[in-house]
Amino acid sequence: MTMSLVERDLAVIWHPYTQMKTAQPPIPIVRGEGTCLYAEDGTKYIDAVSSWWVNIHGHSHPYIAQKVSEQLHKLEHAIFAGFTHEGAVLLAERLLAILPSNQKKAFYTDDGSTAVEAAIKMCLQYWHNKGEQRTKILAFKNAYHGDTFGAMSVSGRSAFTAAFDSLLFEVEFIDLPNAENIESIKYLVSSIKTEISCFIFEPLVQGSAGMVMYDAAYLNELMAHCQSESVLLIADEVFTGFGRTGKNFACDHVQVQPDIICFSKGLTGGTMALGLTTCTQAIYDAFLSDDRMKTLFHGHSYTANPVACAAALASLDLFLKPSTQQNIDRIATKHAAFAETIGSHRSIKTTRQTGTILALEWETGSDTSYFNGLRDKLYYYFLGKGIILRPLGNIIYILPPYCISNDELDYIYQSIGQALDEI
Ligand SMILES: *Cc1c(COP(=O)(O)O)cnc(C)c1O
Repeated sequence: MTMSLVERDLAVIWHPYTQMKTAQPPIPIVRGEGTCLYAEDGTKYIDAVSSWWVNIHGHSHPYIAQKVSEQLHKLEHAIFAGFTHEGAVLLAERLLAILPSNQKKAFYTDDGSTAVEAAIKMCLQYWHNKGEQRTKILAFKNAYHGDTFGAMSVSGRSAFTAAFDSLLFEVEFIDLPNAENIESIKYLVSSIKTEISCFIFEPLVQGSAGMVMYDAAYLNELMAHCQSESVLLIADEVFTGFGRTGKNFACDHVQVQPDIICFSKGLTGGTMALGLTTCTQAIYDAFLSDDRMKTLFHGHSYTANPVACAAALASLDLFLKPSTQQNIDRIATKHAAFAETIGSHRSIKTTRQTGTILALEWETGSDTSYFNGLRDKLYYYFLGKGIILRPLGNIIYILPPYCISNDELDYIYQSIGQALDEI
């Protein structure tokens, strides 16, 4: 008897973020096109979460597929120490040209977590190379910067880190800045500035925390203060980069320029894994020395993989088309209108929106944890309607590929409205 794909999967696969004992069997996907994923049984799903926030131009985009295919026939991979290739250089040139103007060097990594690891190591070694003892890191409570140990250390402590808490390095966690607390946060930074190497933050939107949004003006003020106290700034744009917040990068919403920026997720348009950490000339220069001990000893086997660079270059071509910005604006406008109408529903506690990201907080009474039962109910309710939404606890969020149609958006909104009445 032949086994189904699901049976074969359950026999050999361990899925991410999944309690394998209680999880429902996975849905076999055979094809992607535009905003939709198609299952083996023919069911069509609108990918309203852009497959974990990575997809920006739709699935199996023919232009990206073409460019990746061409690259595969030319050069699939080459060691990136002692060698270089056109795609890696061109991608760095083109990205640095549209990033905050102080970003001068590009360091390739594999994904978001490793982009963050490289950024943290750059900051810690920057001070080490200068002979200063600055080993503490400043981060926001509830931050999420990835699942490797360094990235996990600078992320908020939670159920996800509990098994490792005693092994994570020391981080000074601060609240998101607002009118009430900005002065006390600045005071805290000043009081420990000589120990702090850097401040890492998700600009404007904390994705994993539940699409928590905060004011660009207070972030800007905090960044300016850190800079005045010689605390290096790492903007983790792994999620917010490439149009999510309405502008090309979340950093475009503030005036102060960070010292380091991390990218991944949307970088290849959601085609494949690639990470990038950019930095200022000053950071780079702190590693230039005749002393080999000052080298940045970091790299990955697939650093600057040419196929991944080709996907990123193709995605960038699409991203910079005026029609893409129009789509981003169109989604933002529709999100805002929907938030306005749904916000008054008695089951909605609050709504918040930044660019193409819309979050709705469901009224649950007391239990608002990630693990509450409502989350699963909602998840399967929307799957039943052919929509992939993965609520974070009681927070439903929509962040679609930019090519989503108005009809598809309306169908998602309408289904959320129905869920509110039925669940
Ligand atoms: C997803 C995410 C990461 C980790 O990226 P991976 O590619 O999953 O390792 C880091 N930072 C932020 C802000 C993210 O959203």
